[in-house]
This record gives sequence, C-alpha cells and structure tokens, in this order.
Amino acid sequence: MPDNKHIKYILDESQMPKAWYNIVPDLPTPPPPVLHPGTKQPVGPDDLAPLFPMALIMQEVSTERYIEIPEPVRDIYRQWRPSPLFRARRLEKLLDTPARIYYKYEGVSPVGSHKPNTAVAQLFYNKEEGITKISTETGAGQWGSSLAMAGAMFGIDVEVFMVKVSYHQKPYRRILMETLGATVHASPTDLTDVGKKVLASDPDSPGSLGIAISEAVEVAAKNPDTKYSLGSVLNHVLLHQTIVGEEALAQMALADDYPDVLIGCAGGGSNMAGLLFPFIREHLTNGRQARFLAVEPMACPSMTKGTYTYDFGDTGEMTPLVRMYTLGHDFVPPGIHAGGLRYHGMAPLVSLLHEQGIIESVAYHQNPVFEAAVTFARAEGITPAPESAHAVRAAIDQALEAREAGEERVILFNLSGHGFFDMSAYDAYLAGKLEDYEYPEEAIAQSLTRLPQVEMA
Ligand SMILES: *Cc1c(COP(=O)(O)O)cnc(C)c1O
Repeated sequence: MPDNKHIKYILDESQMPKAWYNIVPDLPTPPPPVLHPGTKQPVGPDDLAPLFPMALIMQEVSTERYIEIPEPVRDIYRQWRPSPLFRARRLEKLLDTPARIYYKYEGVSPVGSHKPNTAVAQLFYNKEEGITKISTETGAGQWGSSLAMAGAMFGIDVEVFMVKVSYHQKPYRRILMETLGATVHASPTDLTDVGKKVLASDPDSPGSLGIAISEAVEVAAKNPDTKYSLGSVLNHVLLHQTIVGEEALAQMALADDYPDVLIGCAGGGSNMAGLLFPFIREHLTNGRQARFLAVEPMACPSMTKGTYTYDFGDTGEMTPLVRMYTLGHDFVPPGIHAGGLRYHGMAPLVSLLHEQGIIESVAYHQNPVFEAAVTFARAEGITPAPESAHAVRAAIDQALEAREAGEERVILFNLSGHGFFDMSAYDAYLAGKLEDYEYPEEAIAQSLTRLPQVEMA
C-alpha cells in the first residue's frame, strides 16, 4: 500500500549511495565502439588522454557494474545530497487525477541543477592527476556555473566558452560563473583556430554549442596542463548522475510505491539517464516493469526525429565519432527556442536504449511546455528550469491520460533544476510572445547530408 501521509521522502546522509551504477554490463548488446575521426578505427584510451584524465577515460570504457564514489566527492555531495523526492499532492489535486506523481528535485544543489553531480566528480579526478586548468563550453550557463563551483572547491582554474547569444542575453549566469572564479569568453572567439575560422566566414555568428565545444577542445588539446570537461553525453557523465536514480529507488521504497512510468527531459541525456538507469537495471535484471520516457523540444528533437548513426560531437569536427541519434553536427536550433536542450546529438548509451525500444521519446512545442511549468509552479511553488519543464509537461500529460482511463498510474520525473535564471523566458511566455517554432525539417535534412561516411555493421 502506498504511503498516503507524506509529501517528502528524505534519506539520511548515511544512506547516500556509495557507488555509481554503470549500465554497460546490463545492456542487451555492447555499445558500438567510438571511432577516430581520421582513421575511422576504434579509439583507445591513449587517443583520449590529451583531453581527459586517465581515471575518467577508464570510467568511460568501464564494464564494471558499480564504481565506488571517492570519499572527497561524497564529502562535497553531502552538502545537498541525498536530494529530496516529493509527492506532488497539490498538483495531483489540481489535475483531479487518480495518478500518483513523484518528482526527484535536483534544484537543491548550490547552483540549482543536477550538473554538479558530475562537475565535482570530474574535477576531483583531474586534481588527482595534477591538472591545474579546465576548459569547457556552456550554453545557457548551467554547466559553466557547476564547473566554476567545483573549480573553486578544488582550486582548479576554469575557462568557459559561452555561446555568444547566451553571453549577451543571459548575463546573470556569466556573472555567477565569474563570481565563482571562472573566466568566461563569448564564443566564437579569436582565441582559437576554430573560432577564428567561424568569425572569418561569419563575423556576426551568434555561436552554437557545437562551436563552443570545438573551441574548448582545442584549448585543452594544445595545452598540457589543461584538460577538457563535458557536462553531458559521455558515459562517465551519465555514470556520475546515477546517484540520482539510486537515491530515488530507495525513496520510492520509503513511499511503498514503484513508478509505472519514469520521465526525464533530454538534452544530452545525463539527468534523464541519472534517474532512469538504476530503474532500467531493475527492469532488465529483476523484471520490474516500467515505461521510460525521454522528452525533447520540437526545435531540437534528436531522438524523436534524428538518425541513429556515427557523427561528430562538435561542429568543428574535432571530436571522435560516436554512434548516436543525431540531427547532424552542424544543426543549430532556431534562436527563438527558449527551452534549452539544444544539443544536436544524444548520449550514446541513451541512444542505444532508444534504438532497442527500452527508452521511448516524445517532443513538445515550447508553449505547452511553459504552460505546464506555470501550472506546476502555481501548485508546487517551485519554478522549473525550462529544460526540466519538458519533463513536467510529459508528467502532466501522463496524469491526464490516467484520469481519462480512470487508472492509478504512478509517475516519477526528474525535476533537474530550478528556473531562477530563466525569468526572461517566462516573461516572454507570460506576455504571449513565445512562438512555437515548427520542427525544422529542412535544416535537419540539410545537416544530415554532411554526416561522416562510416561503414556500420
Ligand atoms: C543542462 C540541463 C539539462 C539538459 O542536460 P541533460 O544532459 O540532458 O540532462 C536539463 N536540465 C537542466 C536543469 C540543465 O541544466
């Protein structure tokens, strides 16, 4: 019998998970290899060594089911972890639904999202290997501020290439990064060859995540004391986020309940994988039934509308080739899209699970997403990040479906962050100025013609 008294399920510090969960050994088929962009042969650990510390490379290719969380990382996690799991009782009532809606809230971290779960882990391993500087990219600034925070904690310099349009439109995240000690550039810059090339052909380029990644990678590749850090997509990033789902499993047990459907918004896939992977383990190895749902924006629907193939991770064609759902590495979503989740690809592990039918996906236009976010805020008092609002939309739709069907559906979603730095997007929505941008079919078709040519088994 589900607990019907509480709205909050909290674990004690001592109940915080001691290991991250690696889904690779439980996958129905092994993940396809990562390929060198020149030779198109599988890359080895040494190929990645200029960019990442060896400990993270070993996690990237690990087939161990559990990887112990180092004590210094757990010490920092303890400041906000275990994070709370809430039952959205007021939202249930407002929707007049027999569904039970739960959400795991990652907005309680110091910078307001799930991203510090991996930023802290990554900088710990870099520090261990004597690295003094980290370069990275950021879109809206969530990742940059998480890394800036971790850099301040470990005494590592953080250099951030921030997509130019966001740099100018979202000054508060830049100021937060600078407050935490990071150096922030508006990308494209003239500090890198990639940036110079882009500026030469388009001096007014608004930048893109793909360009900023290329710039950050170039800086790390050229400087021996500098490594690169990525806030999503890679296996080790998803691994670090699984602490979210491990906690949620224990919290659902406290609630004497188990989800029928799990939901996460998906940009690169990390917050969703963090919540879902431990439940997918239960599904694959213990036969516990549930549905797994990824939610994307219609302006950048990598899984819903993309192709499962080899592509570059960046616009500048500098990264290895990974097999993933992609819209093409030079696809840039329309500037009018305010909801985040703008990356052209999807994490390879999430892509594989989608290809195998284990993870489903759905894409929404931005107005219904913000409408759901406002409904949620007025019921639960928390204003979701625009990214997280995609998960809120899907959770509400599941609850409405359950009402129509008269069934007791149990819904769990990841509320990956709060939206306090995204008030201009809410402002545009409330003023009726947000446009639903049609799915950019033509731009995606164009971009897909420029995929690298790789023979696939
Ligand atoms: C960055 C971000 C996302 C999207 O990234 P994923 O890797 O797909 O999780 C989602 N929510 C918030 C709050 C973010 O900051």
